[in-house]
Amino acid sequence: MGSVRVLLLGMGGRTSLDGVLALTRLLWGDYPLAVEQLRWVSSPIPRDRRVCRFCQVDGNVEDEAHVLLDCLDARLVAMRDLF
Ligand SMILES: [Zn+2]
Repeated sequence: MGSVRVLLLGMGGRTSLDGVLALTRLLWGDYPLAVEQLRWVSSPIPRDRRVCRFCQVDGNVEDEAHVLLDCLDARLVAMRDLF
């Protein structure tokens, strides 16, 4: 729980129920990113073909690290700038 608290404090010290729920879902692997969603379909898509729906750049897998840290899509950059 200490590391979660540090992470939440790293989000500008703001906490909210939505933020806590989003973080919990992320930690449990329960989120709508392609890396997870396309893993559980009847014919699983290979990981390297689960391309980011935001930037749509071949080779950019839509996983947690890419969406939260690396994706250059303007919508995600704008949301990151809030923190
Ligand atoms: Zn992307």
